[in-house]
Amino acid sequence: MNALTTIPGRHRPTPPAPRTPHPTWCAGGHRCALGEHRSDPLRIDLPNVGALVVTRVQGTDGHEYAEVRGNLRLTPDEPRARQQLGRLLDDLTTLMRAARRAA
Ligand SMILES: [Zn+2]
Repeated sequence: MNALTTIPGRHRPTPPAPRTPHPTWCAGGHRCALGEHRSDPLRIDLPNVGALVVTRVQGTDGHEYAEVRGNLRLTPDEPRARQQLGRLLDDLTTLMRAARRAA
């Protein structure tokens, strides 16, 4: 039996991720867990449009990234709603590439 062999009916516990010191921007507490560090979320409400929430995260691999969540009000007209989604994906892709190039 090698190290990757599992025994049916038994689960090997996952070792905890190594802890690193909290960066100055880390919110700590319940937001900082599982080997990640997370900032307080920044929220922007866009009336009649939607909202964006951005959180700074340092992942378990040590790299930092922006976690972006949001919602966009869609039109009730189905063909146009799909067009909105397609446009949103295109624009977000362009935005993320531009933001990465700015680094
Ligand atoms: Zn932390």
